[in-house]
Amino acid sequence: MDKNSKHMLDRRRRLLGPAYRLFYREPVHIVRGEGVWLYDQAGDRYLDMYNNVPHVGHCHPHVVSAITDQVKSLNTHTRYLHANVLDYAERLTAKFPDELDTAMFSCTGSEANELALRIARTCTGGTGIIVTDFAYHGNTKAIYEISTEDIPSDEVPEYVVTVPTPDVYAGEFQGKDGGSRYAECIYDALSLLKHRGIKPAAFIIDTIISSGGVVATPLGYLAKIAEVVREAGALFVADEVQPGFGRTGRNFWGYQIDDFVPDIVTMGKPMGNGHPLAATVTRRELVDEFAAHTSYFNTFGGNPVSCAAGLAVLDVIENEKLQENALEVGLYLNQKLEMLSEKHEVIGDVRGEGLFKAVELVADRAARTPATEITADVVEGLRKHGILAGSIGKTNNILKLRPPMVFSKENAEFFIQGFDEVLCGL
Ligand code: PMP
Repeated sequence: MDKNSKHMLDRRRRLLGPAYRLFYREPVHIVRGEGVWLYDQAGDRYLDMYNNVPHVGHCHPHVVSAITDQVKSLNTHTRYLHANVLDYAERLTAKFPDELDTAMFSCTGSEANELALRIARTCTGGTGIIVTDFAYHGNTKAIYEISTEDIPSDEVPEYVVTVPTPDVYAGEFQGKDGGSRYAECIYDALSLLKHRGIKPAAFIIDTIISSGGVVATPLGYLAKIAEVVREAGALFVADEVQPGFGRTGRNFWGYQIDDFVPDIVTMGKPMGNGHPLAATVTRRELVDEFAAHTSYFNTFGGNPVSCAAGLAVLDVIENEKLQENALEVGLYLNQKLEMLSEKHEVIGDVRGEGLFKAVELVADRAARTPATEITADVVEGLRKHGILAGSIGKTNNILKLRPPMVFSKENAEFFIQGFDEVLCGL
């Protein structure tokens, strides 16, 4: 590590304390971004295969100028009339079926989920929340309690119950009928709440289960669960913080893998391309009921600058056909990864949708044994090849590939070449 980085690391530890985590054995010090590329303090560039926040590319000029123009004329809290929030709410709700007609704004995915739970609890009269067993939904207290990836099992409150992550590659139910067997687990979760005397309020799911290993839900899984939880008087919350805004290629939202409409949809990260903007979108009747009990105010959520950023992001997604790009380049990346898997035994599974991919690395293909240490070495090796990627999953043996949506076939080639070289050098 160079002297400057060492000094920054010491300052960071001293000033921010030990709860913060950095990526890489030797942290990367990024000073500039452009499109899919990040540049460090020495001027070396990295292909960003990790960041979904700069959705339409780092420092996209259209977003930068929209933010700059708005910040030059006005930014204020959200208790005055302003056209931006209305224009944005109109454009955003137009991305949903008619019944999801009301948008409430916040700054982070955690807040959007927090509000979703409050609405669900108010409108159902229940408190119970059902969530996948290695989920991440954010960092407020209520959301930490349902973030089963983070919260120690002995701290999980009794109103939180889990269903297994529907992983048909390495989970309990594998193969073709795994999806329906996983969906059946919702009955056990509801029974457990009933046994505890707790009324269910919501089922919440990251519609491509990122923390659980970038697991795309099996066909029919979400729709089946929505049907069952509604029968039990609870609501279905789709967390689109990761898969939303066209990332999955085929659809604009991850939940659209099935033909059904969630009761509440939450979103954040990519919405403002790095500017903090999040939303909870739901049906008017639920908001009416919520509003009869309480009101909602968020100082920064939906402010004129944030909404200018949100509008500009939607412009770019549409004008540059980024959803279509995610589909096309995603398929291309898939093919290339499948080819690599023929060469490298360590690649156990290639999965994902659009520009949200996972490569599961295994020590033994037949037994599907997680190659955890190898995955850590691969992430470090990729960095040396100028590629930033991440690892995820219960056993941290899954390479997570989630680049900005302007990722091209040429970028995919660059990645595949670097990945191949790293795997050859293992
Ligand atoms: N939901 C999901 C699925 C997430 O991945 C995250 C963040 N990684 C959040 C919610 C929380 O978003 P934020 O960090 O903006 O609060």
